[in-house]
Amino acid sequence: MDILTKMRRFAEQDVSEEEITKNWRDYRWQLRHAVRDLKTFEGLTGIELSREEKTSYQKVLEKFPLSITPYYFSLINFDDYRNDPIFIQAFPSPRELNITRYDLKDPLLEEKDSPVPLITHRYPDRVLFLVSNMCAMYCRHCTRKRRVGDRDSIPDRDEIRRGLEYIRATPAVRDVLLSGGDPFLLDDDYLDWILTELGEIPHVEVVRIGTRTPAVLPYRITDNLVAMLKRHHPLWINTHFNHPRELTTSAREALRKLADAGIPLGNQSVLLAGVNDCPRIMKKLVHKLVQNRVRPYYLYQCDLSEGLSHFRTPVGKGIEIIESLIGHTSGFAVPTYVIDAPGGGGKIPVMPNYLISWSTNKVILRNYEGVITSYKEPDSYEPTFCDRNCDECDLQLHLEEGDEFKAIGIAKLLSDWDRTITLIPENTERVERRDRDDGEFTKPKF
Ligand SMILES: *Cc1c(COP(=O)(O)O)cnc(C)c1O
Repeated sequence: MDILTKMRRFAEQDVSEEEITKNWRDYRWQLRHAVRDLKTFEGLTGIELSREEKTSYQKVLEKFPLSITPYYFSLINFDDYRNDPIFIQAFPSPRELNITRYDLKDPLLEEKDSPVPLITHRYPDRVLFLVSNMCAMYCRHCTRKRRVGDRDSIPDRDEIRRGLEYIRATPAVRDVLLSGGDPFLLDDDYLDWILTELGEIPHVEVVRIGTRTPAVLPYRITDNLVAMLKRHHPLWINTHFNHPRELTTSAREALRKLADAGIPLGNQSVLLAGVNDCPRIMKKLVHKLVQNRVRPYYLYQCDLSEGLSHFRTPVGKGIEIIESLIGHTSGFAVPTYVIDAPGGGGKIPVMPNYLISWSTNKVILRNYEGVITSYKEPDSYEPTFCDRNCDECDLQLHLEEGDEFKAIGIAKLLSDWDRTITLIPENTERVERRDRDDGEFTKPKF
């Protein structure tokens, strides 16, 4: 079906063909005409859902909203729509109501790590700031699907102010990641205001925006928006493409505008069963991304959020995909495969193993072809003892201002100056026993 036919189908929804031709590239028109209910879907496609199907889809929609832009909708191949990667990402499945034993409402504990509403402060030096809860298209695989699209919880200016206040009062924050929802669903002026406020905070070194609009509503990347963004460098943008078919002429044009504005572009994909769980599809995707100046950044293992069970693949599928990329293609085309740890542990990289053995003077490695090789370690290496005094150190890191360096986790165990020798989980019987034997052992402090 060609694009005109699809557009004509919109015409059947009280929209004349002229209006469509005139307005197709107007993102506001696209948002006003987003497909938000089953009746519109049936009207546009001529597909008649059975009464049973309708009832079960309707149940899903009550829990997780539907919205597909006409643009994204027009990418669906209706000859085989049930297997279509665009359709699967956009249209509800009754399987979204399957809640498995391991599903969690907030698997990443974003709310627990939230000092003020809208902010998740999980890592030492950067925060996630959920400035919008609307999206142009509601991804069926969204990890925050329990809260996006809920009209009652659109962040208001006061909440945003409180978020800004937290960042202003927290000097450790040097990187702010705007997400949502989709920050590009905010008006240019509003986003301009947020970026201006952030730009005035001296310790905020970079701002990042996570947006799916280049994939689902590329016309949102207007000249106006880009001119505004350009005034807020250093600004980075991460997009979200999951399938090579999403890189259409319009999407590529949006990416070109952003890249021409000097904005470094990254991409975060989610590994999705039935959409992109294939090394060839992923290779095609990363190639198309780098051709359009987008660096593949993360490949996410699908989270344990409720309603996503049918999208999950075994972790082995992700490893297999990365195995098919490293060495086989350009290094900068390979994303880092991560699992966002349930319980709020943050992103954990899971990559194939290349280090296969080790002695006191050699490491044994294998490459992507299966060649096993050895690397001889240096005979003489004088480690620099680090007592955190950079001014006295031969390595010339001359810091202008005092930088209170605090080691955390494994980096702490590796450090010279911290006395910690073990990290012990809190709830082991052994540690509990120590607490009971008061005095004889002292519980280590971490
Ligand atoms: C992903 C994420 C970040 C950013 O992590 P990077 O690895 O720096 O991209 C920050 N905060 C939270 C809560 C996140 O989930």
